[in-house]
Amino acid sequence: MRVLVIEDEIALAEAVRDGLVAEGYDVDIVHDGADGLWRAREGSYDAIVLDILLPGMNGYKVCETLRDEGVWTPILMLTAKDGEWDEAEALDTGADDFLSKPFSFVVLLARLRALVRRGAPPRPAVLELGPLRLDPGTRRLERGADVVKLTAREFALLEYLMRRDGNVASKAEILDHVWGMDFAGDPNVVEVYIGYLRRKIDQPYDSHMIRTVRGAGYRLCVDDRDG
Ligand code: CA
Repeated sequence: MRVLVIEDEIALAEAVRDGLVAEGYDVDIVHDGADGLWRAREGSYDAIVLDILLPGMNGYKVCETLRDEGVWTPILMLTAKDGEWDEAEALDTGADDFLSKPFSFVVLLARLRALVRRGAPPRPAVLELGPLRLDPGTRRLERGADVVKLTAREFALLEYLMRRDGNVASKAEILDHVWGMDFAGDPNVVEVYIGYLRRKIDQPYDSHMIRTVRGAGYRLCVDDRDG
């Protein structure tokens, strides 16, 4: 069982390594995010323990980049603060589990075992609608022959609308699914992001796939002009 530990607090990284080695794991440690990304790509690890605040490249970015590249090694992210935001963000970037510091080694070990047992998550199926082709696995969106760059939130919003399969999604449902149940900000954020998406998938193509249904919400459908 091979584990990569990406953690810049050297004493902590070594303690985790020594503990895991004593349990029979084969462990590599790296103290920098960019080095960690390189090792995670090259090595065949069964799991990765990833800190968030790292020199070189932060843990969110490392995780997101790996998932974008289709590397599905299970990732346990170490969150420094015990804020929900950190945890939501960790899962949002493609981490499989998270653990707040300070943590007990026994808990770390139990979580790692569970992750390894579960194995790499299956690649989610590609969603298609008219000219849109959205791959949740590689977080890639194509519109016809173009690759459209979306932020993580825009991607999540479009994915949710595509999964509704032509049905209306209310603002409240969108907030729950895309921003999370605990979202306490301005609900108009949905309209703002719908606007961002229109600018990327509709306006440049002079099409009208994202429809506003007055008083009900939004739905995604194929524009007649797109066939
Ligand atoms: Ca750190």
